Amino acid sequence: MLDDPTQTGTDASTLASSVRRADPADPQISVLDLAVTRGDGIFETLDAIDGFGQALEPHLARLENSARLLDLPAPCLDLYREGIRQGIAASTHPRLSVKLVLTRGIEGAGRCTGWVFVDPEPDFTEARTHGLKVVTLDRGYRHDVAQTSPWLLQGAKTLSYAVNKSVYREAERRGADDVIFISSDGFVLEGPTSTAVLQFGRHLVTPSTDQGILAGTAQAAFFDYAEANGLTTEYRTVTPDELRAADSVWLASSVRQIVPVVEIDGVARGFDAELHAAALDYLVTRRS
Ligand code: PLP
Repeated sequence: MLDDPTQTGTDASTLASSVRRADPADPQISVLDLAVTRGDGIFETLDAIDGFGQALEPHLARLENSARLLDLPAPCLDLYREGIRQGIAASTHPRLSVKLVLTRGIEGAGRCTGWVFVDPEPDFTEARTHGLKVVTLDRGYRHDVAQTSPWLLQGAKTLSYAVNKSVYREAERRGADDVIFISSDGFVLEGPTSTAVLQFGRHLVTPSTDQGILAGTAQAAFFDYAEANGLTTEYRTVTPDELRAADSVWLASSVRQIVPVVEIDGVARGFDAELHAAALDYLVTRRS
């Protein structure tokens, strides 16, 4: 637990003593915390491999941006760095998922709640190797929702993930594993916990992040790999027809990294197995 996750101006020893090691199986958070009563808070999840937190700074920058979008005080990033350092050091597992949380705290208390949760990462070999069946689902918002209605917080990584979870149950009812959201005005957005990446020959495309979606850190790393290996990359609007016509489609996210999509709305599809294997190898071993 982080004693005061939005503290400012602290030195190294204060930071170290502001991190309290806690057993996640024990109660740590009040039932009055707005995270519990309203889902009012933000989070990030990153991968730590052999002690190295992947894309740590982009994740911290996104946490900061989510705080800004929710009018939360700025998180003390040095304190989160220290919490992550201690959490990783305390684990003997080589591959960890690291979750960062900042909540609005107890209503009226004027103090945020924050913690870092470190856990051995799940085994995604099956999905990475054999791919996922995906359904497209209407997101119910236009693609320009972040500009027209910023109070809906699209583009912030909030703790209100009940919808992001319910769509997995809808996918299961439809015989699929995962989801790609389509905006109400017909543009491909993102997965409930991932970024969509499309391949057209030697060109990779992902939906641009001005459409109320998250800037994916795994997708950014995939693009780094692609550009270093002679492919071109692009951020733009994407239509469902293009999604269906793409040579390959991947869902990219931290920890799971990239998984190929092998079916969309009941129609089987292939993927570039060579590019997938090479990019996945880069993603799971990178130190950036
Ligand atoms: N989009 C949403 C809604 C997400 O929740 C996530 C990750 O959880 C992503 C995209 C992928 O982001 P990242 O690659 O940084 O994990």
